Amino acid sequence: MPLTDKFGRSIHDLRISITDRCNYRCVYCRTGTNGAAYAELPFADYLRMARVLVGLGVTKIRLTGGEPLLRKGIIEFVRDLAALRTVAGGKPEIALTTNGHLLAEIVQPLKDAGLDRVTVSMDAVDPERFARITRVANGFESVLAGVRAAHRVGLDPVKVNCVLLRGFNEDQVIPFGMFAREEGVVVRFIEFMPLEEDRVWTPAVVVTLDEIVARMSEYRPLVEIERGRSETARRYRFDDGVGEIGIIAPVSHPFCGHCSRIRITSDGKLRTCLFSVWDHDLHELMRRGASDAEMAEFIVGVVDKKEERHHIGEVGFVPASRTMVHIGG
Ligand code: SAM
Repeated sequence: MPLTDKFGRSIHDLRISITDRCNYRCVYCRTGTNGAAYAELPFADYLRMARVLVGLGVTKIRLTGGEPLLRKGIIEFVRDLAALRTVAGGKPEIALTTNGHLLAEIVQPLKDAGLDRVTVSMDAVDPERFARITRVANGFESVLAGVRAAHRVGLDPVKVNCVLLRGFNEDQVIPFGMFAREEGVVVRFIEFMPLEEDRVWTPAVVVTLDEIVARMSEYRPLVEIERGRSETARRYRFDDGVGEIGIIAPVSHPFCGHCSRIRITSDGKLRTCLFSVWDHDLHELMRRGASDAEMAEFIVGVVDKKEERHHIGEVGFVPASRTMVHIGG
């Protein structure tokens, strides 16, 4: 019986944050002065949790952070995850979300170890703007090299995620459209969510799906294409068939009804929603000597508490108990 919550959503998509350290200090994510706030576990601990979750029906595992490539041993971890078997007997799909800064030199070994997909975050295609956003000098070339290396080793489609902020990088829409076409990557715009350390979010800063589509269409007409049921991004092709973009619109077009995700934080807590106001201490249970069966029972109970939806923008919105970098995006 696959893991299903009380709203009938099948939970088959696991995200594991393997660190909440990050080598970038993106203005919309971090304060610029705060560092890591939570522990990191040995890979063996994440592996055991993943094994139990895969035994319950998880078919896809995404490694994230913080910046996951800061952790030594990630190649061996990917290899161990790739050796797990889903309920149907197949290899789980293994994906990585990274800022790409350290990707170029490690992407081939990651692929050889069993990595299937990579998403690189990149919020400008202009080196100067990129440095202002990340607060790191000269990162753009490294990230671009990472994107190209991922494409070269065949981790296609390589996805590039961009968060647009009004008054900051909203003019990057069309340059990113060109980038998608020239580099052969899927560029996905993500609406800014209230998950930042600085608590500066307001609805006015969010560049919405409708605006992005309108602006991109000034460059070239877009044609919406079909997407999978639990896929978060709306997908578009340019009218001449060259280049794909996606838009993830949790603010203007929430997709909670199709959410298939569960998360493990770097310190081993389960989270059922980015906007959860509590988390569930799977690691503590494990540390106290729980069997796999007891862990599975705990997970089933946690999934049953999964929130129906988030409440972004509503009166009385309660901020999540952790910000994005400490959850794992
Ligand atoms: N360091 C990795 C990276 O840069 O992709 C993984 C962690 S990062 C927190 C994951 C993703 O979350 C990035 O694409 C980032 O742009 C996005 N993100 C961070 N804060 C966000 C926010 N408040 N709203 C929307 N997306 C956000």
